[in-house]
Amino acid sequence: MTNCTTCRTDYDETDTEAVKEHTEPSKCSCKRCNGSPRCYTCTSSFCYCTGGH
Ligand SMILES: [Zn+2]
Ligand SMILES: [Zn+2]
Ligand SMILES: [Zn+2]
Repeated sequence: MTNCTTCRTDYDETDTEAVKEHTEPSKCSCKRCNGSPRCYTCTSSFCYCTGGH
């Protein structure tokens, strides 16, 4: 297991989907979470994607 530095959750590094979710930068219209992995929870009150990417 690997601990994600973004969301502090353990994920299986052999699971390609999980690896993507925790390491692959996402494109987002919100400047704050653009470039962060999908597991990143944006706390900006101006963010419209708090439900995930
Ligand atoms: Zn994560
Ligand atoms: Zn976002
Ligand atoms: Zn955001």
